Amino acid sequence: MTDQDLAALHAALPTLDTHVDIPWPDTPDPRGETPRQVDFPKMAAGGLKAVVFIAYTPQGPRTPEGHAAAGERAEAMLRAIRATAGDGQRLVTTADELAQAHRDNASAVLLAVENGNAMGHDLGRLKLWRDLGACYVTVTHDGHNDLSDAARPRPDLGDGESLHGGLSALGRDAIREMNRVGLMVDTSHIARTAFFQAAEISRSPVLATHACCAALRAHPRNVDDEQLDVLRDVGGMLQVTAVPAFLRAPGEDGRFRASVADMADHVDHAVKRIGIEHVGLSSDFDGGGGVEGWRNAAETAGLTAELARRGYDRGALELLWSGNFLRVWRAAEAVAG
Ligand SMILES: [Zn+2]
Repeated sequence: MTDQDLAALHAALPTLDTHVDIPWPDTPDPRGETPRQVDFPKMAAGGLKAVVFIAYTPQGPRTPEGHAAAGERAEAMLRAIRATAGDGQRLVTTADELAQAHRDNASAVLLAVENGNAMGHDLGRLKLWRDLGACYVTVTHDGHNDLSDAARPRPDLGDGESLHGGLSALGRDAIREMNRVGLMVDTSHIARTAFFQAAEISRSPVLATHACCAALRAHPRNVDDEQLDVLRDVGGMLQVTAVPAFLRAPGEDGRFRASVADMADHVDHAVKRIGIEHVGLSSDFDGGGGVEGWRNAAETAGLTAELARRGYDRGALELLWSGNFLRVWRAAEAVAG
């Protein structure tokens, strides 16, 4: 494939990055050039047409005050993300709107919430987030919350290995409520025990929006083959992400380095194990992501190039870049109501 063919192929793909953090509380305006890995000029330069910006709250005290502060922050972040869409960027809050944005070759902004801790014990927050446009909720971050055990406990917050033995009763109720309001359930960050419980309880397919394959790199944030099989069985997916520590073991100097070739290795593994329909792509930019060949949104063609070199054709690339995510989203919308 010539460089020209590759550029034409990439330009025609319905690209979507399903997990991008935003600096907070000082958030450089993405409508202009910024030091961020993702802003709208970089998206345009790199042919990244859609991005899910994350209202992320770190795990803090599981107290009424801690929950209130997290809830306020998540809501403020959702409103801030919404406020930057509008001029050139289309705010996308449904699967149909995403498909339409891609057909129109429009630049799209989606929203999601990372760390269900921000709902505290108030299930009504989930409806509020959905009403503000969020498409998914990541049930935990690092550190157990009142919904679920996390894959990486936070001893500095007093965490032991397990707090609930997976999901708590509140966490099960939260997943039912996410189903009811049409939020996708993101299992990234939750403990392995909780993963299997969530996959069973959820009436819509669960997905991991930013993780990699434990078979290639043993890491608590990655999903093993048994988990991959469950993602396939429930109709969900793994979005392989550009976090070097999830992709490769550290070098002799203790530093983590990875490239788009490592990402493609993880994609290859997941596709062989569970099929192309259950695999996608994300960066975790501005949250620790970035690999050689895809260091920011302006370099998005670098990942397409590596995957095309591995033999993924246009149809496969369309599925990886957003087609599968659309299917999972539509399934979440279908059970809502
Ligand atoms: Zn995360």
